[in-house]
Amino acid sequence: MGWKTLDDMDLNGKRVLTRVDINVPMENGRVTDATRITRIAPTVADIRAKGGSPVLLAHFGRPKGQVVPDMSLEPLVPALQEAFGCPVTFVERPSRDWIDAQPADAVILVENTRFTPMEEANDPQMAQFLATLGDVFCNDAFSAAHRAHASTTGVAHLLPACAGRLMQAELSALEAALSTPKRPVGAVVGGAKVSTKLDLLTNLVEKIDVLIIGGGMANTFLAAQGAQLGASLQEADLHDTAREIMDKAAAAGCRILLPSDGRVSRAFAAGAPYDTIALNADTRLDDDQMVLDAGDAAVADVAAAIDTLSTLIWNGPLGAFEIAPFDTATVAAAKAAAARTASHGLITVAGGGDTVAALNQAGVADDFTYISTAGGAFLEWMEGKDLPGVAALG
Ligand code: AMP
Repeated sequence: MGWKTLDDMDLNGKRVLTRVDINVPMENGRVTDATRITRIAPTVADIRAKGGSPVLLAHFGRPKGQVVPDMSLEPLVPALQEAFGCPVTFVERPSRDWIDAQPADAVILVENTRFTPMEEANDPQMAQFLATLGDVFCNDAFSAAHRAHASTTGVAHLLPACAGRLMQAELSALEAALSTPKRPVGAVVGGAKVSTKLDLLTNLVEKIDVLIIGGGMANTFLAAQGAQLGASLQEADLHDTAREIMDKAAAAGCRILLPSDGRVSRAFAAGAPYDTIALNADTRLDDDQMVLDAGDAAVADVAAAIDTLSTLIWNGPLGAFEIAPFDTATVAAAKAAAARTASHGLITVAGGGDTVAALNQAGVADDFTYISTAGGAFLEWMEGKDLPGVAALG
């Protein structure tokens, strides 16, 4: 743990500098998906309930240190007001004097922190300036916690600091999944490539009891054992690495589960005809055949493995889930995990990249214990890395 929450802070009469992630999708000046805004509303409400005045800091888009009018935060004001149920005052160039002239319960939104190169450089001068704008620092942007920027870590060292409600929920869920999990703990790791998830796999096999590998990644592991998988997505240069991960897992007592069968097609296209073929070291596919999804036997293995677990981490799809029917295994396995969550209190924590989209497609997004929308920060946590934005709260 080691980090404080809003409950530990005296906020009465204080300006609470609050780093949030409101990097929402917009079209024609309107917010098209307000999820990120709704998720910070409890933090804003709790700060105000404790007599504080939130001064919101956030980035938007990638202005690369320049003032880019299209990436101003000002157009977000109506959506913020709707989510918070109170007025929000936007300020382009704040000063402490200006802030002190605002009502004691004001919600203030400061212009895009990335309009200066000092933000991403974690320039101490910017951190010093930001620290003058508040009495307390609250970080509610877990999704930006893997970046050491002036508004995420620099300022956190200069003011009494705590986690906001969303950050608190993320950290509690991630600690419950990996730091102090209810055992046995397992992970589904799917997706395209081993190369992008090397650190993740290496860290997980040391910490968990069962590793379920799926998607294109599983092809690389099967090929490393001798399978010939035709035109399947796989990384031939990573066979040694895959074998090393399997050795590491064996030494650490982590069971690795690879798909025992797959849906195999000659075309990467929605509705393409397929055969279900057993997958093992002896599999020999034609040159134009591709494993695009796990098969029914593999899904049954995954469901059986899930039934032995108390905690499940999920990252990545088990097949090319964007093109039906090759979403079948991802959807079925996700439903199995959701059912076990409801029936046996399995703790299910998912996140990273395409995972949220895949679980939405399976219709189980509300049935998992926790789904992180944090992407990169979720993966870095699962890779065992220290997140500077979290470390700075300690
Ligand atoms: P990632 O971003 O690494 O989580 O990978 C997700 C992508 O991997 C999705 O676009 C999937 O369509 C793709 N994928 C998963 N399994 C396969 C497969 N067997 N063949 C081709 N693409 C796959």
